[in-house]
Amino acid sequence: MAETQEPAGFTVHEKRHWASDEETPSPSSELNQEGAQTLSFQTETQQLLELMIHSLYSNKEIFLRELISNASDALDRYRFTALTETEFEERDDLGIRLEVDKDARTLTIHDNGIGMSRGELVRNIGTIARSGSREILSQLKLAQKEDAQPLELIGQFGVGFYSAFMAADRVKLITRRAGEPAATSWQSTGDGSYTIDDAQREEHGTSITLHLKDVNEDDGIGDFTEEWTLDRVIKRYSDFVRYPITIEVEREEPVLDEEGKPKEGETKTVQEERTLNSMKAIWMRPASEVEDNEYDEFYKHIAHDWEKPRRRIALAAEGRLEYRALLFIPSHAPHDFFYQESKAGLSLYLRNVKIMEECEELLPRYLRFVKGVVDSPDLPLNVSRELLQHNRQLTQIQKGVVKKVLSTLKEMLDKEREEYLEVWTAFGRALKEGVVSNADNKDRLMELMLFSSSDDAKKLSTLAEYIERMKEGQEEIYYLTGDSRQSIEGSPHLEAFTAKGYEVLFLSDPIDELLVQYVTEHEGKALKSVGKGEVELGSEEERKEAEEARKTQQEGLSGLLTLLQEKLDEHVKEVRLSSRLTTSAVCLVTDEHDESPQLQRLLKQTRAKLPTTKRIMELNGEHPLVASLSKRYEANKSDDVLESYAQLLFGQALLAEGSELPDPAAFSKLVADVMARGI
Ligand code: ADP
Repeated sequence: MAETQEPAGFTVHEKRHWASDEETPSPSSELNQEGAQTLSFQTETQQLLELMIHSLYSNKEIFLRELISNASDALDRYRFTALTETEFEERDDLGIRLEVDKDARTLTIHDNGIGMSRGELVRNIGTIARSGSREILSQLKLAQKEDAQPLELIGQFGVGFYSAFMAADRVKLITRRAGEPAATSWQSTGDGSYTIDDAQREEHGTSITLHLKDVNEDDGIGDFTEEWTLDRVIKRYSDFVRYPITIEVEREEPVLDEEGKPKEGETKTVQEERTLNSMKAIWMRPASEVEDNEYDEFYKHIAHDWEKPRRRIALAAEGRLEYRALLFIPSHAPHDFFYQESKAGLSLYLRNVKIMEECEELLPRYLRFVKGVVDSPDLPLNVSRELLQHNRQLTQIQKGVVKKVLSTLKEMLDKEREEYLEVWTAFGRALKEGVVSNADNKDRLMELMLFSSSDDAKKLSTLAEYIERMKEGQEEIYYLTGDSRQSIEGSPHLEAFTAKGYEVLFLSDPIDELLVQYVTEHEGKALKSVGKGEVELGSEEERKEAEEARKTQQEGLSGLLTLLQEKLDEHVKEVRLSSRLTTSAVCLVTDEHDESPQLQRLLKQTRAKLPTTKRIMELNGEHPLVASLSKRYEANKSDDVLESYAQLLFGQALLAEGSELPDPAAFSKLVADVMARGI
């Protein structure tokens, strides 16, 4: 049978009994129909599977953590749904059950969570549903090439389930979605395809059976049919899971006689259910009793991260509103951190029962990198998002949480600069988003900002540190925005400042341009762009002197300046002598209250039509080029060379600050003409 390419990324090889015989069934329609199907894994999934199967990664036991984590999420989802929807009964026997068969060498993980419908099964397990799956894969491959441990990346990208193939040659899953009558099975040996079929299952939930590989301790494959192995792995990675993880064990028990005394030499085998995890909410336990490693595992579980967190923040509030929060600052940003749809918010618990995930009311969006949980006994058990939005208690909790996070960051900045630098590199831009979106904590956030500067373009300093270094008499915080550090560093606007020893902050992040719209001063010092308005440097006396000298010079050059202005009228609103240039002949500056070219570029990306703001062209009166031009002008005021030079000066000023030329071809031709004349 010919292969039929599916839009969802899987291929139908074979179909045995379709209810209708469509040529290319769409995932949503055909998957509700019954029968067996063998489907190909999406290319990316297959590549991922191969990485799992052939991986030398020795920590293979983590597959159990991944599967338990999925089961626990599915139980949460069932519990949520039962809380809000009447069709599902609330039940107190939600849990995870391990079952082993030593002879068949299988391990089965049963849960009575939400389960999956046939369609969900194919979407969730046959494909990597997440956007950017290629990116994930390339990162995995890169990690492998660099001899890192690619499988450390499991979980972060939602490839958890496939880790089962590290320990098993064959995996079978049977699942039934709560509220649906039928169950579905899924089976694969990880060799490129998987089979789904109708199945029987008494109640909702999922059972995953692993046909285990042979024990090979060297290869990290322990005996996962041994109770003590499972016990150890569960305690290590999943102790905090809030549902019981049980295992049925056999125990020899003495046979009792009629009086209840053991009969000598007679025993019987009894089945006993043992719970392997403590199920304690980690944030309720006294910190002194929790090992760092347990916190780390808990973080990995909730954040789907593979790396341990950089910082843990615990918070307990008492009094009118009682709550506890356990928060984490991750070690790195997730790959989709700057996407609109990236996850944000904390999990909200009410007396240890999760009532909401990704609750954004608990944490403003700019702090979306913070992961964790909040538990409060004082909240109403009303899980509707709409009502929570206006919930006073939540607003109060948010305030407390934000305050604590910001003070922790400040403490890191003050006491552990290196650690803070890592946080800043990963999440600094998000903090800047906070400044441009949240007026409440603007000052606290500004204290956390780090910038590079003309002093040392590689070192980052705070505004307070800059202020400390300011020269005597300097009243303003100087900065320059631009596309990159390099273009700012080479910008002519800096000349007089660096020549006179003034430090200028380099703002090269696109969001910086917005930042300076929102922040006009810090600790009473105004922020001033060196690319805007007039520049006055030095002592009052020096300034006066310079002003006088410029006035005289300007008078001498006024004819030339007016002519240049006329020639460039389309582009500039004024041509004047500069007090900021020392080596370059020309630069363009923005009028004090106009938008900078960088901001204009940003705005153009969001708005189609935008009137261009004309800028001011400044000439360096000391430059030989200006002197020669002036001579030429005095000799013949209508010399057409002047027109070419006006255009050249304008183009040169644009290039020097890293801006684009309006007409590069015309500029290039002009340069060639002038060069030819010169030779
Ligand atoms: P992740 O757990 O990171 O999302 P997985 O590949 O492990 O990635 O699982 C993919 C999806 O399959 C899950 O998001 C979930 O929707 C579904 N899933 C996995 N295991 C279960 C389970 N035991 N019960 C219900 N759904 C599950």
